[in-house]
Amino acid sequence: RRKWKRVVGVLKELEESCETTVGRLKQVVDAMAVEMHAGLASEGGSKLKMLLTFVDNLPSGSEKGIFYALDLGGTNFRVLRVELGGQRSDLDPDVEQQPIPEQLMTGRSEDLFDFIASSLYQFVEKNDSVQSPITKLLGFTFSFPVKQTSVSSGVLIKWTKGFAIRDMVEKEVAGALQQALTRKGLNMRVSVLVNDTVGTLALGHYHDADIVAAVIIGTGTNACYWERTDAIIKCQGLLTTSGGMVVNMEWGNFWSSHLPRTSYDIKLDAESPNPNDQGFEKMISGMYLGDIVRRVILRMSEESDVFGPVSSRLYLPFTLRTPLMAAMHEDDSPELTQVARILKDVLDIPDIPLKARKLVVKICDVVTRRAARLAAAGIVGILKKIGRDGSGGITGGRSRSDIKMRRTAVAVEGSLYTQYTMFREYLHEALNEILGEDIARHVVIIVTEDGSGTGAALLAASHSSEN
Ligand code: ADP
Repeated sequence: RRKWKRVVGVLKELEESCETTVGRLKQVVDAMAVEMHAGLASEGGSKLKMLLTFVDNLPSGSEKGIFYALDLGGTNFRVLRVELGGQRSDLDPDVEQQPIPEQLMTGRSEDLFDFIASSLYQFVEKNDSVQSPITKLLGFTFSFPVKQTSVSSGVLIKWTKGFAIRDMVEKEVAGALQQALTRKGLNMRVSVLVNDTVGTLALGHYHDADIVAAVIIGTGTNACYWERTDAIIKCQGLLTTSGGMVVNMEWGNFWSSHLPRTSYDIKLDAESPNPNDQGFEKMISGMYLGDIVRRVILRMSEESDVFGPVSSRLYLPFTLRTPLMAAMHEDDSPELTQVARILKDVLDIPDIPLKARKLVVKICDVVTRRAARLAAAGIVGILKKIGRDGSGGITGGRSRSDIKMRRTAVAVEGSLYTQYTMFREYLHEALNEILGEDIARHVVIIVTEDGSGTGAALLAASHSSEN
């Protein structure tokens, strides 16, 4: 007996608990805007950290000169050089990527930074004079949690992603790199220290001055945006010439009771190394979507024999990676041959009927649709906070018809958006539904590429007169 009823019941329950009606999404939008407010009002006022970046201007296209960047945020690091001619143009940076030897990820900070400084030295030597008396400027993208103390300095809060260099924790990050550059005799100054989303915002803004926010949806998810300094209440008296500053939201940690949560999310969170952390990220990003689907298939498999005997692979966390989930979701062959292949190769579930394969596609659809729609709600939350959602801002009393909606652009990066068509389409659809077509017409999503590298070099340029 296949017990189809059971399986259909599990699917129905999943659909119900993942429901993202426009009404529900609007509640998420409001919650996001409210939490942003709270995070800006006081330190620890919200699950949203709303970190100050001290980035008080964004590249405009008029930058001139040669600038370098170093991008460190995972198992590889990249060095990059960009030449700016004073006019917006297609940037064509020289880039070199290198893996970080594993022993350096858990050793002493001096060894890591000396290694990086040597690579940078060789890279500079190829293109410019290392001996030049003119100090070269370097933008440093460091994608770990940092408490920023100025645009060019900050203290490491904790390592993530497999790094564990104890002597670095609570130490000044840019300073450690600067010392290594000096030891190496390289005349280069670390002039900005930024997080990858800030780089994305900078690169976006270089090409399009209407960009107000940047969102990354890849392995993890995060966002940053341009805020007026007088709205950053927790830092009273903060003054910048521009009157604004980029705020790094760390939105992966957003949480609200309005988020549609399932039993699978609860278990995924409980079994993760960081329970109660990064709740929004666990529903949206590439690290997790495949694993939510695995959990649903496991439950169905346990409750019926539609998938044959329960495959032991189904018990292994993260066996089903998100790119493969996407491949199943987007399988448009009549017999769903991709689905069959992936189920067999990856999950060790051979030969299931077409009807059951369709069920798997449906699960992928439900999980991705929820993810993309929540990401859209997050974006509208930011627009609402800065009064660009067409409603006149969080406290605005003006009526809708009084508002002349300005063109508003959001920079987006990350494979979920760029590689996963269904995700992208669901995100756009939700933006339209939440904002209404009249407003949504003025909101554009711009894809940037490699903001974490190029953006940092651009920020080194736009902040070059400041320090
Ligand atoms: P980063 O690790 O810097 O965030 P990406 O933006 O490329 O890099 O995101 C990688 C994540 O995107 C991985 O977690 C992977 O699961 C997911 N991913 C990569 N390609 C695809 C794809 N075609 N469809 C869906 N998800 C993908």
